[in-house]
Amino acid sequence: MSEQPIYIMPEDTKRTTGREAQHNNIAAAKAVAQAVRTTLGPKGMDKMIVDSAGDVIVTNDGVTILTEMQIEHPAARMIVEVAKTQEDAVGDGTTTAVILAGELLKRAENLLEQEVHPTVLARGYRLAEIEAQKILGKICENVSIENDSLLRNIAITAMTGKGAESDKEELAKLIIAAIRKVSQGNKIDKDDIKVEKRVGNENSELIEGIVLDKEKVHPGMPTYIENARVLLLDSPLEIKNTEIDAKIQITDPAQLTAFLDQEERTLRLMVERIKDTGANVLLSQRGIDDMAQHFLAKAGILAIRRVTKSDIERLAKATGGKIISNWKEVSYSDCGSAGLVRESKIGENNMIFVEKCINTKSVTILVRGGTEHIAEEIKRAVTDAIGDLAAVVKEGKVVGGAGAVEIKVARELRNYANQLTGREQLAVQAFADTLEIIPRTLAENAGLDPIDVLTQLRAAQEIWPGINVATGKVMDSWQAGVIEPLKIKTQAISSAAEVAEMILRIDDVILGHEKKGNPNRMEV
Ligand code: ADP
Ligand code: MG
Repeated sequence: MSEQPIYIMPEDTKRTTGREAQHNNIAAAKAVAQAVRTTLGPKGMDKMIVDSAGDVIVTNDGVTILTEMQIEHPAARMIVEVAKTQEDAVGDGTTTAVILAGELLKRAENLLEQEVHPTVLARGYRLAEIEAQKILGKICENVSIENDSLLRNIAITAMTGKGAESDKEELAKLIIAAIRKVSQGNKIDKDDIKVEKRVGNENSELIEGIVLDKEKVHPGMPTYIENARVLLLDSPLEIKNTEIDAKIQITDPAQLTAFLDQEERTLRLMVERIKDTGANVLLSQRGIDDMAQHFLAKAGILAIRRVTKSDIERLAKATGGKIISNWKEVSYSDCGSAGLVRESKIGENNMIFVEKCINTKSVTILVRGGTEHIAEEIKRAVTDAIGDLAAVVKEGKVVGGAGAVEIKVARELRNYANQLTGREQLAVQAFADTLEIIPRTLAENAGLDPIDVLTQLRAAQEIWPGINVATGKVMDSWQAGVIEPLKIKTQAISSAAEVAEMILRIDDVILGHEKKGNPNRMEV
């Protein structure tokens, strides 16, 4: 009896297996790391990304670059996820995390070629990661968050090499003031600090309250309201019900008038209900019908539409108001309060300021930059610095930057590797070598000889041996004020190791059909 081949998948399924699958995945991961590598550190370069609509972004920020790049390869997208995780957890260190992941896989590839089995490698990386976390916990410094000059150094380190470079002293002061305002002991929610941007050469400023890049919807509305009662709405103030698409057939003009009258009556009723709550400010996440705008203006209500969801949530917290979905159900007690709501001209356009709120733990840093692109990049740098300071307020632990922490952990990991027997030892050594990609890249990006720099750093006696990117010599990062939160490093190392292990364990890539609407489809 001749053997029949058995097909378990459709014939056109693309599939790669074994070494080839591994090789492809690793190549994709390396390509992602390569894409952001030149942006690392104080001398890092920027990237210009142009989207299909012709919009341009100029940035140095790892996660921004990768999310804008529209990466498709599944393994590459797993690396992009590392950047996103880092962004959510800390906000800073996204480039570091991606570079580490790429380098772990590159080193793994060398070992695979030497016939080290991928599961042995993955296990070795696991061991190394656990040990690296232990080492970090041991070598980090405990600091007091009362220490202003330390917080300044951390903020400046975060902003070095970004668009914010020239104003960094001024910005660091604003960021520290904001952090002090919203934190209580070691409790802090970094979302309490909003960063808003505007083109202009004026100084950036800290506003106690929430600033919205919006204008009132109708010129007849007030622009300055003291003791404001604020109503927050997350549904449209319009007649159209977007969920049901109804067609109305009108056969004679009287019907049309009746229909329009009906519409007007409903809008009028909506505004009446809102007015009855005593609200004099309406902030809506959705649209507001033109006629409703007119009625609101007549009622003396300042209304803003299309406020982002995150801002509406912030406003709810700050003013103590409830977010209302149904205008029919609004009542007096749903309103929040703010001492002052005003519209003021900032630069070319108006902005809305919601100030003197009940919950004073809401602030906005309004950053200014000479052009849209610069303002945008300063905003990203400031957001990174806020994330770093928030992490330090929470944990009270920091490390020396400029490659110092990576050099120190690599040293101790090598000692640990020497105690191991078996092939895991090779993986742990590769892990240690991987960490040195950070000082190596900092040197490369500064136009220095990376080998020269690494040999110096490895032999250095400083407590925190970092690279002085101006001179190419070793410096003590701590004394130089290059200080970063511990959290950046613990998070970057853990997610880089995790994704490397995951990719190493894949030996079969099956590209199935497009399965539209399949809830079981895995999204990477
Ligand atoms: P990431 O997205 O990983 O935060 P950055 O471009 O912000 O990437 O670069 C961070 C790296 O730059 C860190 O390793 C940090 O220690 C280093 N760095 C920051 N400031 C300095 C400095 N003044 N001298 C040397 N290295 C610095
Ligand atoms: Mg950074």
